[in-house]
Amino acid sequence: MDKRRRGPVITIDGPAGAGKSTLAKGLAVRLGLKYIDTGAMYRAITLKAIKANVDPESESGLASLCQASYIKIAGSKGNETRIILDGEDVTQEIRSPAVSSFVSQVSRHQKVRSYLTRLQREMADAGKVVLEGRDTGTCVYPEADVKIYLVASFDARVRRRHLELLAKGYDIKEEEVAQDIARRDRIDSTREVSPLLVPDGAFILDSTNLGIEETIQRALWVVREVLPVDL
Ligand code: C5P
Repeated sequence: MDKRRRGPVITIDGPAGAGKSTLAKGLAVRLGLKYIDTGAMYRAITLKAIKANVDPESESGLASLCQASYIKIAGSKGNETRIILDGEDVTQEIRSPAVSSFVSQVSRHQKVRSYLTRLQREMADAGKVVLEGRDTGTCVYPEADVKIYLVASFDARVRRRHLELLAKGYDIKEEEVAQDIARRDRIDSTREVSPLLVPDGAFILDSTNLGIEETIQRALWVVREVLPVDL
């Protein structure tokens, strides 16, 4: 571990619906680390753009929006994470289908990425964090102590995301979720800036046939191979 940091940095990347947040929260709770949901930060900027009528294709419009934003991840450990945008708790609102359908367009832009990457690096510099997203092991913190790339089959990802949205009260069909995930997969992995890639030195974990607890146990095994048991 880098001696300048006060604790480990773990990154978890992978495509939409692979179960990254569940795994990241699970690891954070069990290891006593802070969970940083980088996707939530892209969602918060997207929500702000929708409300302010800023075109998701306008890089300069989005850059000004970023400069005028204050994004905070509140709740220091595990499950209690709340996303605060300009002083308002937007934890629920950023999960809406409207935000999901625009977020990949917003996150394609270099200026948006460099703004959020800088914030994420600053949070991770303190150590004792689990960073979760699409580029945390490749761009945000390539020097992380442990890098995990979580995958699952397309069908499993659609099924899980659909159940998650239904549980949150959204009336949405499985085909719509499939279209959204397929579109986001395409944009996220083909964009010019920080595309979704397997980070160098990452451990690839396939959760298609694993339950939540099994996935967490495998990841804990990887972490303990690399880091001392007492973090
Ligand atoms: O993880 P989640 O599905 O909430 O992320 C929403 C979107 O934010 C992704 O589809 C992707 O476009 C973007 N994102 C990103 N880089 C990250 C995290 C998320 O581009 N590190």
